Amino acid sequence: MAGVIHGDGTRAVRAGLPEPLKYEPTLPGPVFAAHFHLPGEPTGPYTYGRDENPTWTHLERAIGELETPGGKPAETVVFASGMAAISAVLFSQLKTGDVVVLPSDGYQALPLVRERLEAYGIEVRTAPTGGDAQLSVLEGAKLLWIETPSNPGLDVCDIRRLVAAAHDGGALVAVDNTLATPLGQRPLELGADFSVASDTKGMTGHGDILLGHVTCHDAELAASVRRWRKVVGAIPGPMEAWLAHRSLSTLQLRVDRQCANALTLARTLAGRDDVTGLRYPGLPEDPSHELATRQMRRFGSVVSFVLPDRERAERFLDALRLVDDATSFGGVRSTAERRGRWGGDAVPDGFIRFSVGAEDPEDLVADVLRALDESAEKAV
Ligand SMILES: *Cc1c(COP(=O)(O)O)cnc(C)c1O
Repeated sequence: MAGVIHGDGTRAVRAGLPEPLKYEPTLPGPVFAAHFHLPGEPTGPYTYGRDENPTWTHLERAIGELETPGGKPAETVVFASGMAAISAVLFSQLKTGDVVVLPSDGYQALPLVRERLEAYGIEVRTAPTGGDAQLSVLEGAKLLWIETPSNPGLDVCDIRRLVAAAHDGGALVAVDNTLATPLGQRPLELGADFSVASDTKGMTGHGDILLGHVTCHDAELAASVRRWRKVVGAIPGPMEAWLAHRSLSTLQLRVDRQCANALTLARTLAGRDDVTGLRYPGLPEDPSHELATRQMRRFGSVVSFVLPDRERAERFLDALRLVDDATSFGGVRSTAERRGRWGGDAVPDGFIRFSVGAEDPEDLVADVLRALDESAEKAV
């Protein structure tokens, strides 16, 4: 029914499905094509495989419906990875002499992007996510890049407030929404110009594909991002795009279960005196909770905390049986890692980033408590 805005679960299971066609599948399979039959003038929709693909089109519609339910029309462009999506926004919008503001505590590959931007004569300023500190370096910026909640520190900034200040000064705003997914937070409704994400994480949720997307309302901005994809060729494979679309149907089930489990785990960890620096925006006593509740609808599947030292953290990870020691997050199988092992984040040696999966909460909590106790005992 036109005009009806359905709930998140309904929208997730139906997102991007084409009109029913007799004898056709509900979600058409992946289209593997380098080129399409194209007699006469080379006009779209489908000409060459680096430009467009019907499997991407279905996925882009699906993501668009989740990013802007019942709202203004939006366009989504899917990419080979989250980094491809991030680079597409930054490099399609910025040119020599421009100023861009990045978070100083954002995704660990941002410093690599910064090197590239600076090599092209773009001025890069950084400030922390917490306390809306990016406001203080906005003057004269062309683009503001926000990551909230930040990975891995889980700080939150006020998207509406930062957008208002940036727009006042004529800057565009992009939000890396990877951690929240569109079911947790909708940056475009909070005023941002670009909602960007690594769909490698919670969006697809099975830890088996890399993918990214950019969604925006403005058709010209969308076109420039789309053109960038064609130029650098950072295109998703049709199989990955189709798997991602299939995964979206369970997005609400997965995210709800994982967020509930994350809160349960955070509450459990809050009761331990060997755990410090506990962060989860959904925890009422978290410093970001009040702000998070104003702009988020679900608080994500990542919990971070600090164990006394590196050795204790390593013993803890080793003792876990239901939680794999692996990077990335947002998957249905819990993973955790000692984030300091990468060297890219300003975190203590015992800092653990815990991605909470869809296991039964009592099993997960029991495993974590046992691993905490065992790893404490072995210390002499
Ligand atoms: C993982 C991640 C990225 C990069 O995504 P890839 O799909 O690995 O390229 C970007 N931003 C955040 C917040 C991430 O967690």
